[in-house]
Amino acid sequence: MQGLMMHRDLRIIDILRHAAEAHGDAGIVSARVEGDLHRQSYPQTLGRVAQLAHALTGLGVKTGDRVATLAWNGHRHFELYYAVAGIGAVCHTLNPRLAREQLLYIIAHADDRLLFVDADLVPLVVDLLPDLPEGLRLVVLTDRARMPETPHGALCYEELIAGQPATYDWPDLPEDTASGLCYTSGTTGHPKGALYSHRSTVLHAMQVPLCQTSSFRAGHCVLPVVPMFHVNAWGLPYTAPLTGMTLVMPGPNLDGPSLFRLMDGEGVWSAWGVPTVWAGLLSEIDAQGRIPQGFGDLVVGGSAAPRVMIEAYEARGVNVAQAWGMTEMSPIGSHGVLPPRYDGADDEDRITAKCCAGRRIFGLDFKIVDDDGTRLPHDGDATGELYVRGSTVISGYFENEDATRMAMDAEGWFGTGDVASVDSEGRLVIRDRAKDLVKSGGEWISSIDLENAALSHPAIAACAVVAMPHPKWDERPVLVAVASGAERPALEEMHAHMAGHFAHWQLPDDLVWVEELPLTATGKISKLTLRQRMADYVLPELRGGAA
Ligand code: ADP
Repeated sequence: MQGLMMHRDLRIIDILRHAAEAHGDAGIVSARVEGDLHRQSYPQTLGRVAQLAHALTGLGVKTGDRVATLAWNGHRHFELYYAVAGIGAVCHTLNPRLAREQLLYIIAHADDRLLFVDADLVPLVVDLLPDLPEGLRLVVLTDRARMPETPHGALCYEELIAGQPATYDWPDLPEDTASGLCYTSGTTGHPKGALYSHRSTVLHAMQVPLCQTSSFRAGHCVLPVVPMFHVNAWGLPYTAPLTGMTLVMPGPNLDGPSLFRLMDGEGVWSAWGVPTVWAGLLSEIDAQGRIPQGFGDLVVGGSAAPRVMIEAYEARGVNVAQAWGMTEMSPIGSHGVLPPRYDGADDEDRITAKCCAGRRIFGLDFKIVDDDGTRLPHDGDATGELYVRGSTVISGYFENEDATRMAMDAEGWFGTGDVASVDSEGRLVIRDRAKDLVKSGGEWISSIDLENAALSHPAIAACAVVAMPHPKWDERPVLVAVASGAERPALEEMHAHMAGHFAHWQLPDDLVWVEELPLTATGKISKLTLRQRMADYVLPELRGGAA
């Protein structure tokens, strides 16, 4: 049809070009591995990104090549995001907390050409070195003076970009060009890659601030505690410059006191990350008797935010929003900003509303299906596996047909593996991961609900509910808990505490105290490892002579 609007392909570099022009006072503050606090504006960053792009092309990086990073949140990692994508290559983020075999598998599967590594992670690479593909070039993200001892032939980042021109003639890439690659650590089999495109990344960057409105304020600071090595730090390296916010990058130190100091010093408005991190910050807030100055907005995702945590932050004047998402979804699928009718609602109602996973972001569709794949109504009650569809969702895994076949349904929707309900207003309630549900006597019990109820007991600092085998009921729930002090309530006391919310048969059969709970490479409680640790565990009812 004549006279239709122009078509311009969406390009990631245009986000930074926009920020450098429209938000020149904003930029990136980085608590660096070197121990200093580094500051640079978006215009300066764009200049360095151009220098890096020249250096990359000089090293022979071409369209479609994978360039790997093994780095914490910091300005140099940000520069890699933009320069690698800007020249049409793919920025492949590696998670330093993954097991050695997984890292080796991922690097080989992605066929990485270059590996950019933070100085403190060089020993990790040295350990991998004997098994890394020959020809994989190493670049250390520091300057010459602070270069650690490195394997022969390793390059120095600052040296590499110094002297390069600070402008670059960015190519007009088709928007479906691949830009980023992140592997998700499945519980079985090898990790699977989600391959993002310029289009999906720019759309995600526009969709999220449109929905998660409480967090984005030009001229304010946002802290991604969620790592840049996993799902693009939930898109913040794109949404922050787009909306004129300064990124405060925490580097490797994510403990409560370090985060408090950084947030307090920079006046961070909004902070994003998984619940385990916010439990650490809360202890420091209590120790200091105040919240960090300027702090007003907290986004919790990656696993269910416990109600007690939401209550604790809200009581201290911090607005909490829960987000749900997955690596395969760029990652944000739902946001926790409440509809206006909650303005003036009482605290109880508001907190209850915030305990669900929120409403879908624009551009995404949800469908709930039963075991036969039949669609269930969005009535808030019907519960089944959640499928998603949208421009920010994978159409399959990177170079992995088997995994793709398992994940996609006949209509092309992606199966999340989460069991959920959706109500008529689009509100999502994640009942559990399908593999974490406790199946007891043909019924199921939500481990998330049990954990929430247990966590509201003051003696419990952290907990996880796992399913243990039972000959008659299939599985029974067991509560594994970390105590907050010396008190160790008995199982009966926990039952009395939790009884109001559950039928008796849904309550845990046992309470096991542990010193700490295992965490995944992304900082969530690892039920997989916990189940492995409990391989020899027998339910009390089944122990010798007890029956
Ligand atoms: P990994 O667990 O390998 O890090 P992801 O980061 O992609 O992989 O995790 C996605 C999963 O995390 C979701 O499928 C869901 O089970 C869980 N999850 C994320 N956010 C929430 C939330 N707000 N509430 C409950 N579960 C969540």
